Amino acid sequence: MAGRPRVGVLALQGDVREHVAVLEHLGAAVTPVRRPEELAQVDGLVLPGGESTVIDKLARAFGLAEPLRARIADGMPAYGTCAGLILLADAVLDAAPGQQSFGGLDVVVRRNAFGRQNESFETEIAVDGFRSPVQAAFIRAPLIERVGPRARAIGALPDGGVVAVEQGALLGTSFHPEVAGEDRFHRRLLEHVRGR
Ligand code: GLN
Repeated sequence: MAGRPRVGVLALQGDVREHVAVLEHLGAAVTPVRRPEELAQVDGLVLPGGESTVIDKLARAFGLAEPLRARIADGMPAYGTCAGLILLADAVLDAAPGQQSFGGLDVVVRRNAFGRQNESFETEIAVDGFRSPVQAAFIRAPLIERVGPRARAIGALPDGGVVAVEQGALLGTSFHPEVAGEDRFHRRLLEHVRGR
């Protein structure tokens, strides 16, 4: 693929700007995606953290949910963090009534899986293929409770709880790497985009 990779950031709600900044820093041409026409212009997508119930509702209201499902099924590289991971998961536990996900990742996630006193915390996570650990911020984060046969756990908490997965060109993390200036997940996404 010639030129800069064209990557979108789903921009319905959540920490869109941080992901745009990381991707631009890595040399991508970044498009905020709110409408199907914008989705059609990108070769990869970041689904940011925020509130998965709100992003789900807005995606359906804007006619973006079905095109997004189709692109993911067609193999578009995508990276979901926190709420974005919930939206990429094939199954969601403790979902709000009527909440849907786009799916694609063969995982079961539980929303808000960490207790009240532990709602937000930071810790280091070793990730498969990274030379040094990731400084990971968990903010009302989901836990990956089951990793299906098509997906692969690539990062876990000391107690074994899975918090990062990969499945082909799809990546998902429970935590926010972008708040600590971590860019290796975004780099991996761009490798997938360039490789397609
Ligand atoms: N708890 C949020 C949700 O269910 C996710 C939080 C986040 O993205 N930081 O969507």
